[in-house]
Amino acid sequence: MTTTLLPLRDALLITETFGPTFQGEGPSCGQPAIFIRTSRCNLTCDWCDEPRTWDHSRFNLAEHTSWQSIADLTDWVLSYDTDLVVITGGEPLLQQYRLVPLVAALLEAGRRVEFETNGTIVPVQDVRLDQVQFNVSPKLASSGIPAQRRIVPEALNALPQTNTVFKFVITAEHREADLAEADHLVDTYGLRRVWLMPEGTTRDAVTSGLQALAEPALKRGWGLTTRLHVQLWENAHGR
Ligand code: SF4
Repeated sequence: MTTTLLPLRDALLITETFGPTFQGEGPSCGQPAIFIRTSRCNLTCDWCDEPRTWDHSRFNLAEHTSWQSIADLTDWVLSYDTDLVVITGGEPLLQQYRLVPLVAALLEAGRRVEFETNGTIVPVQDVRLDQVQFNVSPKLASSGIPAQRRIVPEALNALPQTNTVFKFVITAEHREADLAEADHLVDTYGLRRVWLMPEGTTRDAVTSGLQALAEPALKRGWGLTTRLHVQLWENAHGR
């Protein structure tokens, strides 16, 4: 077998590509979308539903990772006429400089681009801040990560200047503490366009979480989002 070495600037470290399916979370929930899931993350959330992007202790990452060229990824996305492209992870902004040409090609072809990001990395101007949407999910204490790793003031101050929505994952076990910390972050950083989302990888967990979060979201004037892919297919990969 011949191995082709790709210059880093022309390729991305990818866990999977899939779709068309639905954007399962946030303001675009229910819209048809194509997904690019980048590999690796700078956090290690206890309840992460995509640990194969980063968790060396449980997964052989080599089996879940491939280098894919920008040209191949672009061709694959554009082989569908799906309007929305979601770049998720892992943490996609770890590779943001290499994502620049992909985002440019997708926008040029008339696609909409959303990033799912954990809010710890300041996006660079070259990822077309004015034309993409950032769905930012700052991690709360219930993620099991020390605050100094998951809360990066520089990023949380910068992201509201872009086209950004904030999505807090609320666990059943620590619901009140999660909500109190979300309140604190919203007040501290002046966050706008805020959504609550239940943590969970089963239909029952998502449904009961939605029921529990309905009143807290309404009381705060925030949005409430399901995890549509979980309700439809539970935690199946590639959906
Ligand atoms: S930031 Fe997201 S991908 Fe990274 S460990 Fe946490 S939940 Fe998983």
